[in-house]
Amino acid sequence: REHFVPPEGGREVYTTKAVPVGSLVIGGGAPLVVQTMWKGPLTPETVSTIVEELERLSKMGCGLMRFAVPDMTAAEVVGRIAERSLMPVVADIHFDWRLALRVMDFPVAKVRINPGNIGARWKVEEVVRKAEEKGVAIRVGVNSGSLPKHLRHDPDVAAALVKAAEEELEILGSLGFERVIVSLKASDIETTVRANRVFAQRYEIPLHLGVTEAGPLIPGIVKSTAALVPLLSEGIGDTIRVSLSDSCEKEVLVGMEIARASGRRNTGVNLVSCPRCSRYSFDVMGFIERVYPYLLSIERPITVAVMGCVVNGPGEARYADLAITGTGRGIFLYRKGEKIREVAPDEAVDAFLEEIQHLL
Ligand code: SF4
Repeated sequence: REHFVPPEGGREVYTTKAVPVGSLVIGGGAPLVVQTMWKGPLTPETVSTIVEELERLSKMGCGLMRFAVPDMTAAEVVGRIAERSLMPVVADIHFDWRLALRVMDFPVAKVRINPGNIGARWKVEEVVRKAEEKGVAIRVGVNSGSLPKHLRHDPDVAAALVKAAEEELEILGSLGFERVIVSLKASDIETTVRANRVFAQRYEIPLHLGVTEAGPLIPGIVKSTAALVPLLSEGIGDTIRVSLSDSCEKEVLVGMEIARASGRRNTGVNLVSCPRCSRYSFDVMGFIERVYPYLLSIERPITVAVMGCVVNGPGEARYADLAITGTGRGIFLYRKGEKIREVAPDEAVDAFLEEIQHLL
């Protein structure tokens, strides 16, 4: 990212300050953090299950989990999760600043406040003072759907997003608070991109990127990719959340792929797979569904090819560290282009996972 030069008149490079968020650092050249938001029930009975789920998502690349905190019970449940989770926990606060104060009695790493609904300046100041005292980071999370009242009718929504953040930053700055991250989210691509570019030109504050309410899986992936890849490729953005009407797992998977596509994640598996056509003699899709979560947990940069038939299978195998392909005469595994094994369909997953271990 240090090699990107922004348009004339802007800062020379989009470097940001490093902000500690629990055991993570966001900004300052630290690796891009992929995060998601909890979608399930949040009751005292669910704490253990959620902590286990965070461990699973962590293995897939998720670095941070945000929880909505709608009431005091939720504040305590989120607090208990933060006490037990290795993954840093973010508390998402709307309307009632007292929820932010309560949740910071627990080891949460970050609190998100929305300038559009957190209310009077003194309430924000109370939250900031407690965050300072507890070493908690704050995300000023501005959203086009909940802008502060005086900015809601601004025809330039991108400018209004930036202005809303600036007004809140003035309060944080007046108290000398520095552990701050900003997000400027709209539900359309152009506004999201423009607002974040303008902000990145002006400030060294780390940016959390996302398209808000991006939609169900497929349109959500398209919108998020279209908005986030240009920004991330330019060096803008320090953490991302892909907002989908789908599972946390899918949000993390898509986030990891966006990080890779934008050149911000150069470790892990580069998965080459054929789209499958009626020539196939190996169930590429079913196979990938079973091995993909495991592949995501691999840090080492390797290329893996999963191919349906001989048309392109052996050819792709030449460029891959490990390849598996149907041939019509059996399922073959290749290591760096050399055939190493032939297996039956029901042995394919185990054989593949065994062989991948030899590469790690
Ligand atoms: Fe079809 Fe074979 Fe190409 Fe896959 S590798 S798309 S099965 S021709």
